[in-house]
Parts: sequence; structure tokens; C-alpha cells
Amino acid sequence: MKDKHFETQAIRAQLNRTDYNEHSVPLFLTSSFVFDEAEGMRAAFNEESDDFIYSRYVNPNTNEFIDKICLLEGAEAGFASASGMAAIFTTFMALLKSGDHVISCSSVFGATHAIFTKYFPKWNISHSYFTTGSVKEIESLIKPETKFIYLETPTNPAIELIDLELVASIAKKHQILLIVDNCFATPYLQQPIRFGADLVIHSATKYMDGQGRVLGGIVVGQKELVHAIYLFGRLTGPSMSPFNAWVLSKSLETLAVRMDRHCDNALYVAQKLEGHSRLENVSYPFLSSHPHHAIAKKQMKAGGGIITITVSGGYEAAKQFLDKLQMIKISPNLGDARSIATHPASSTHCKLSEAERLSVGITPGLIRVSVGLENREDILNDLLQALQ
Ligand SMILES: *Cc1c(COP(=O)(O)O)cnc(C)c1O
Repeated sequence: MKDKHFETQAIRAQLNRTDYNEHSVPLFLTSSFVFDEAEGMRAAFNEESDDFIYSRYVNPNTNEFIDKICLLEGAEAGFASASGMAAIFTTFMALLKSGDHVISCSSVFGATHAIFTKYFPKWNISHSYFTTGSVKEIESLIKPETKFIYLETPTNPAIELIDLELVASIAKKHQILLIVDNCFATPYLQQPIRFGADLVIHSATKYMDGQGRVLGGIVVGQKELVHAIYLFGRLTGPSMSPFNAWVLSKSLETLAVRMDRHCDNALYVAQKLEGHSRLENVSYPFLSSHPHHAIAKKQMKAGGGIITITVSGGYEAAKQFLDKLQMIKISPNLGDARSIATHPASSTHCKLSEAERLSVGITPGLIRVSVGLENREDILNDLLQALQ
């Protein structure tokens, strides 16, 4: 499958058929597997074994999902988890020890920020943030005990971009790891391993599912690193459920066509809204007005499905705008076939202080729009009528 193109891999990489010769991969809802002999079971419990033992360790559906993402991201190995946060947390816990230090972009997913600030101190792990727009800052933050650089690009929700190749070169030079949360771009638009990342994490809940049905997460990358994460995960139990793996693996078959449409719709809506008298700003990576447009062009195939708009009039105006939306619903999710609007300051990023929010570009009037797959005119018209 390695020689095939993205779309083909996402559709054709699948489990071997069972004796029934089924066309579509069946769902293996089984918590454990049986052994013909006692010796086989003994051997399977070796940490290096990839035999089917117990679905907290491995399951055929989960394996298929992992294998697909490895192909699509150009990774050696992967570990799938119950949610994106489970992938992030399991990765942190497997790789870090007391005394370690990590560097992250300041604009990270709210729950990831909460792990850094609320729980890391309990375990004597420290963190430093670099300003998303200023990658040069990273070198001055590196200490002997720095284990990895962690980043998201495009960032959530400010839609800023970080130069992956540049950060990877800094990580290499200082022999520390680079971990990228690639959730907003998906492997269809951006493959961080190609630019030098060591591990790539996804919330599969978003574009991978694409229809707002299941939670899931995955981390892929270098074999030895992933093996350490897998061993910690199989022990502590954040594993992905076989049912969710089955749903997600089938969802991947349509990832490319969905992303093409998400990107087309988002670019169209962003272009039409840009300059609107009630808006202070419209941000989308493939708008030439975006301050990081050149980085977007370098590392992304297209701009993704998320745009942010800043309504004039702050929080009150943002609330009014959201309440006036008719078709587009207010929800914290993104990457769904249905367009969604979110007010980050009062929801996904409410755990940050006002000053922290402003420092990462989350103003009171900022609204994140996950542009869905509905007809682009219907999406635009709903936004326009709510702006009136
Ligand atoms: C949603 C999200 C997560 C967390 O994923 P869950 O599946 O909700 O646990 C992590 N990072 C980013 C960028 C996200 O958007």
C-alpha cells in the first residue's frame, strides 16, 4: 500500500478477509481472544508480542485504524485511544518523568493547557510557552531537562500557523523531540513527519469521524517512542473501543473528499465575509491577508475547514450573533459535516484567564466557525443574516 496515493490508501488498506469473504470489514466486538495451547498464551504475554490477547492491548479493528493512519501520516507505528485527550495524556505520561520540562506553543487546546498548568506541577514537570508567532523564542527556553517541543498548527482557535520545518530543525539541533497535534489539518492537508516531527497526535473525534458521532484519538510516529506509549497505554487502559475504531476506519475512506469540500466551502465563506462592516477580522490560512499565509502555502495542501471571525462589539455582540444563527448550531465540536459556531472565550478556553486568552488572540468577539459540507451559499447566508 505504501506505493499508492492517499485516497487509495485510505480506502483500500484493510484487514484480511475472514472465512466469510465479506467485502466490508466486520466489527470485532470481543474483549479477549483464545489460545490453542497454554504455551501460546504464555508467549503472547511477552511485551514485544503483537498477538491478539485482550482488547485493552490490541484488537483487529483498532489495528486497522492505526495501520491506516500510519500510512496516511508516513509513520512507523501508532497507538489508538478513547479520545484525543487520552492520546495526549498517554503520550505525556509515557515519555515524561519528574523533573522534566516541556516547551509548547502558547495557543494550545484548552484541556492540554489545563494539563500543563493544573496537573504538571503536581508531578514536578514544568512547562514554558513560546508565542505562536515567534518561533525564535524556543531556543532561549530550552534547558538541559527539556524533553520535547509540543505544538498545534493551525492553532485552535486563533488559526495561527507555525513553521514545522523550522521548529523541527531546532528540536534536532538540541536533540529533543517534536510532537505535533495535527487535528485541524488532518494528514490529508499536512503531514508533520515529512517536516521532521517525531510524533503526531490527533483527536479523531473531529475530521476523522467527520460526522460528530464518536470520540477517538491516536498518536503515530517513531517505533520506539510509540512502543513506550503503547506499553503504558495497554497497562493503564485508555484504549480505543473496537466499535469506534470500526466507525473511524470507515470514515477515513471519505476523508479526502470531505476535506476538499470543507476547504472549498471555508475559503469561499472567508473570502465573502472579509471586509464585512460588522467584522473586525476574518482569519483563514489560505486568505492572502493571513499573516502566516506563506507558511500555510509551504506546509498545507489547502487551508482546512475552520475560519475565525471577530465581531465588533465584544462579548455581547458575539452572543447576539450566535443566538441569531438559524441553521448553524452552537456547539463545542468541530470538523463535522454540519457547520458549527463556537465562542472560545466563554467555552473551550474559559479555563484560561482573560490575560492568557488575549495573549493567544482569543478576544471576547472571536467566533470559531467550523465550516461544514452544506451548500456554501446556505452557510454564508446564515452567517450574513446573523450579522445584520
Ligand atoms: C478536540 C481537540 C483535542 C481533544 O480531543 P478529544 O477527542 O475531544 O479528547 C485535542 N486537540 C485539538 C486541537 C482538538 O481540537
